Amino acid sequence: MIKRFIRRVLGLPSEPMQRVPRERHGIARGAISPGAAKVCSVLREAGFGAFVVGGAVRDLLLGIAPKDYDIATDARPEQVKPLFRRALLIGRRFRLVHVMLGPETVEVSTFRAADPETAEKDEHGRVLRDNVFGTQAGDARRRDFTVNALYYDPATGEVIDFHGGLADLKKRVLRVIGDPETRYREDPVRMLRAVRLAAKLGLTLDAATRAPIRKLAPLMERVPPARLFDEMLKLLLSGHASACLRQLREVGLHKGLLPLLDVILEQPLGERFVTLALAQTDERVLAERPVSPAFLFAALLWHEVLAASKARRARGEHPIPALEAAMDEVLDAQCEKLAITRRLTATMREVWTMQPRFENRSGQRAVRLLESPRFRMAYDFLALRAASGEVPAELEAWWRAFQGADAETRKAMLLPETAPAKRRRRRRRRKRAGAAESPAAA
Ligand code: ATP
Ligand code: MG
Repeated sequence: MIKRFIRRVLGLPSEPMQRVPRERHGIARGAISPGAAKVCSVLREAGFGAFVVGGAVRDLLLGIAPKDYDIATDARPEQVKPLFRRALLIGRRFRLVHVMLGPETVEVSTFRAADPETAEKDEHGRVLRDNVFGTQAGDARRRDFTVNALYYDPATGEVIDFHGGLADLKKRVLRVIGDPETRYREDPVRMLRAVRLAAKLGLTLDAATRAPIRKLAPLMERVPPARLFDEMLKLLLSGHASACLRQLREVGLHKGLLPLLDVILEQPLGERFVTLALAQTDERVLAERPVSPAFLFAALLWHEVLAASKARRARGEHPIPALEAAMDEVLDAQCEKLAITRRLTATMREVWTMQPRFENRSGQRAVRLLESPRFRMAYDFLALRAASGEVPAELEAWWRAFQGADAETRKAMLLPETAPAKRRRRRRRRKRAGAAESPAAA
């Protein structure tokens, strides 16, 4: 403890660097993907050092199959690229190389220096630019957690551990490298990563790593919305979204952090709906079935949209325009902080707009809804609304039966057209044609 403190005061890594042989860490020969192995051996033959680093090493040590591989090397990007037939230079500010090998894309980055003194920062300590190449030790120091700063050398079978990450993994502790408050100020997203990784990997946040989060939570406001969106998406699609959101609440990161999280965690009305949506997403991710981010975001914001549209209807707006305006309102507020991509918001709108149309079970309109390209997603959404008690289970059951039935049965299932619906339709058509509104409509 004292030794660690002294090393920290002297600006040294909290533990001396260790080289741990294969027998003591347990990553098997051949455990890494063929692509990662190939990239490392090609770099090594060209005279460079090459190590698997970050999440992949951590996951292998925990017995989890890594979802992708990052390689760290002392070769510069322009030295890496020509060594591979299919490789791309990525990023303007800090270039990486993506090497494509069969179905795999392996990310290769050059060791970066960790010199917070020379890095450009804003007035809260947030690092704006740190694009200097450096040594392996420097590269380790600028990583976020001790368990993420482990380097595996496939050639020697050693794990190189600069910050006691192996011991932390054994204790199942997630610990920030260096002084937590400083590291969070440099990049507030690390707070979100702490929560996500702890929930996903079943690790406990070390006390010092956890302590400053509540106080520093407002710094999240300064993170660019597009970056926040990427990290939130990772969190929501981690397979542990429910656990993550519980943890965010426990460490005090949800409040005022982003409108989305306030919505999710603090609305009693939608809580059941959101809980179901998250549980369903986690289940699908863990079963390796596809999940649609648009569906998930649509679910997370649905009760906000409902509330806004209800308020508008109470002020006398017609249901359809009220829903349209409510969607705009909610998405505008949301996207100010969290840049949900336009492709996603377009799908979200479609799924939302289709919901009132499920109430109509007569004639051509029901058939047309069924034929719409987004029917499946919109129906799944309806099923979630039914499961949470928002709409009658019978409505969902009808649509389930209707889509599974043959043409003949469908015809028999359709409810008779109701007179008021017809009148409304005619009226709208006349309005669109520019006719004066009839006195009956006023
Ligand atoms: P996942 O399994 O979710 O991919 P990961 O740890 O691999 O988790 P990545 O975003 O892929 O996360 O990042 C790769 C590595 O880059 C991390 O393991 C860490 O060493 C480093 N890293 C990522 N984000 C940060 C950050 N904000 N600050 C410092 N280091 C980071
Ligand atoms: Mg990763």
